[in-house]
Amino acid sequence: MFNEEFQLDAPIRWGMVGGGRGSEIGYSHRAAAQRDRLFTFVAAALDLDAERGRDFGTKLGLAPERCYPDYKTLFAEEAKREDGIQAVSIATPNSTHYEIAKAALEAGLHVICEKPATIHVEDALELKALAEKQNKMLAVMYGYTGFQMVHQAREMVRRGDIGAVRVIQMSFAHGFHNTEIEKNSPGAKWRMNPEVSGPSFIIGDCGTHPFYMAGMITGLKVKSLMCSRQSFIESRAPLEDNAHVLFQFEGGAVGTLWASAINSGSMHQQKVRIVGEKASLEWWDEYPNQLRYEVQGEPVRILERGMGYLHNDDPGVSANRQGGGHAEGFFESWANLYHRYALAIDAYNRNDKAFLESHWYPDIDGGIDGVKMVNACVKSADNGAVWVDYD
Ligand code: NAD
Repeated sequence: MFNEEFQLDAPIRWGMVGGGRGSEIGYSHRAAAQRDRLFTFVAAALDLDAERGRDFGTKLGLAPERCYPDYKTLFAEEAKREDGIQAVSIATPNSTHYEIAKAALEAGLHVICEKPATIHVEDALELKALAEKQNKMLAVMYGYTGFQMVHQAREMVRRGDIGAVRVIQMSFAHGFHNTEIEKNSPGAKWRMNPEVSGPSFIIGDCGTHPFYMAGMITGLKVKSLMCSRQSFIESRAPLEDNAHVLFQFEGGAVGTLWASAINSGSMHQQKVRIVGEKASLEWWDEYPNQLRYEVQGEPVRILERGMGYLHNDDPGVSANRQGGGHAEGFFESWANLYHRYALAIDAYNRNDKAFLESHWYPDIDGGIDGVKMVNACVKSADNGAVWVDYD
């Protein structure tokens, strides 16, 4: 079972930039960070609208003087306090991640940044170098990778249960933007604006999730890719609301990704299917407690979360928080990741390199990969769906 006993000397003093009232993802960060009492939420610049941010922050329990009008003031003022923040999560629109993460690292903070990490690959590489120089954690919030069955899939591939990987099928194809909802939704509006969203809408917004997860499960690196993208709602052009990508991986495996916001009727359709020489694995985020294990010539097995037959590589973090048969979900996945971030931050603070080498969490390398994938897809699609090198 999950170990809920306190493992740090003291909770990490934690702040947020973005994630203000009504935002899509702010609550998820707060709920996950505070779940195991490893982070204490003490300061923030929650909103572009300073007054609304202060009002919201105080209603979340922050002291009024620690609800700051913007991230620069947050970092400068907190640095002056003995009890200032030690880590910050960035949950703002895509184009702002780079400048805020850079300022946070320069201020000596550990950083948890939303995906896509940045718009440009060079910026993500620069952030990685800066985090190394500052000896700080730089994590990227690939929130679905905390699920126990995703770790089970990774361990099964590692142990050779399915044999060498041949095909990876990825999708994140929902139907929530099958009409022009951005007319009435601020959260959708910035996503259709290349200046804020970056050069892609749905590949960056959703495609990066199964792409990262597949890489995490298989360890395979992309060699080249080919992408076709469309804007079925014409006003979204040049940003796509639907895309298909073909991948060639190093070592000979191949793959596909379907990223879509116009898959009418679909909730998420976020699936990763890994086809090996002997067997296949399939995980679907709408049924996250199950993992399909299909051995050629045998009946399908549905592996269930919380059961003794699972490989449990890391019982401290990825283990079940409740016995099998009880549903765990999105918030448990996020809390598992924040738990991992807390242990990583603690190890950075103690300079425990051995721990960090063996401790997995979604770090900036995964963030860089996502940004590379998005940019390579745009290059391919905008040149007529041609094969392009990944690096
Ligand atoms: P949103 O538009 O719903 O909310 C953004 C919030 O950030 C708002 O409160 C806004 O006022 C605030 N904000 C914007 N610029 C700011 C700034 N410079 N300083 C302080 N606050 C600022 O957006 P969202 O849907 O919550 O997305 C935010 C980020 O999270 C995006 O990068 C998105 O890709 C990512 N996201 C990730 C997941 C995931 O599963 N990991 C899910 C949804 C969104």
